[in-house]
Amino acid sequence: MHKDSFKNNKRLIGYFTGKSKGPAVIIFSGIHGNEDAGVKASKNIIKKIKKDKISIKGNLFFVYGNSKALKLKKRYVDTDLNRIWSSEHILKLKETPEAEMISEEREQIEIYLLIKNIIEYCKGKFYFIDLHTTSSKTFPFITISDSLNNRKFSSAFPLPTVLGIEEYLPGPLLTFMNEFGYIALGFEAGQHKDTESVRNCESFIWKSLIHTGCVKKKEVNDYQKELDQLLKSKCTNKYRFFQIIFRYEIRPEENFKMLAGFENFDKIIQDQLLAENNGVEVRAVKSGRIFMPLYQSQGDDGFFIIRRVSKFWINASIVARRLHAHNFLRILPGVKKDPGNKYILIVDPKTAKFMAKQIFHLFGYRQQVLKDNKLHFIKRDRKILPFP
Ligand SMILES: [Zn+2]
Repeated sequence: MHKDSFKNNKRLIGYFTGKSKGPAVIIFSGIHGNEDAGVKASKNIIKKIKKDKISIKGNLFFVYGNSKALKLKKRYVDTDLNRIWSSEHILKLKETPEAEMISEEREQIEIYLLIKNIIEYCKGKFYFIDLHTTSSKTFPFITISDSLNNRKFSSAFPLPTVLGIEEYLPGPLLTFMNEFGYIALGFEAGQHKDTESVRNCESFIWKSLIHTGCVKKKEVNDYQKELDQLLKSKCTNKYRFFQIIFRYEIRPEENFKMLAGFENFDKIIQDQLLAENNGVEVRAVKSGRIFMPLYQSQGDDGFFIIRRVSKFWINASIVARRLHAHNFLRILPGVKKDPGNKYILIVDPKTAKFMAKQIFHLFGYRQQVLKDNKLHFIKRDRKILPFP
């Protein structure tokens, strides 16, 4: 793999291949085509790096997500590009003629091939970042799969972090990257149309570049300080970690309408009226905080409910995982190791009642799929595995 292979790649908003060894930072934006704040921020940063001749250690790539949907300013054309990432799907696509692919599959295969080239070309530690915005009003926040390396990276930012989204959403790009052991972090910058969202993305990118060692702090000091302040001031919530406890999935036949006025992270109580579906009331099944309430026509997550994760739980899970105490889970009745994959536990649903599920989370496992009436819990902490 030679760096010339990145030349003229239309998927790249821009890239910098440094002379020295160092981190590889890959920044995606516009995976949802109606969320272009990340694209604008990427372009601003590329311009600034070139203008001020900022030196880049390692390699830095800015990647278009759903390029066709971005042009149309729509979330997607045929299907959500952030719900179709799995090894099985990629392997199938490799065998599929392009003419038979839907719009998002054509985007996906191009992104996949670019990632594969980047992984082959770069030597350093990899960081994958995906920039988004939301339809509801929100202050900036981070979403991650709950692995210790993701948690550690997210700690570099003064932002609330929502864990465990992978348990509720099928096929996001970042969960897919995480499955090969890579650090992968999602940033939600604000509301789609809020002009601050672009600035928040810029602030987040600079902070990432400094934290990964890709850019020296002193080279962007004044500029970055100002943006850093901006991000900090936006974080009105001092709690760091939240976890999703409920997802309202909109089915194709539904006419879902969120009640007006909810902002992301607003507190809600059980039975509170949240939305309407075909004229029927939708009420909160649990108390907590509303998360990503849907105020746009495309998308099938009506809303989520999240709760704060205690500091005690966060610390206990670090200790449990460092001691490899998860080996203990395998001896519980109703729990089996997957013979084909050491990171998967196959669990009898009776064993995985509410409390049991919390224990799996503690040891770093998140429920992913139901196969043959058995729950599959997948370990998020893992070594780097070969990319398919
Ligand atoms: Zn999005």
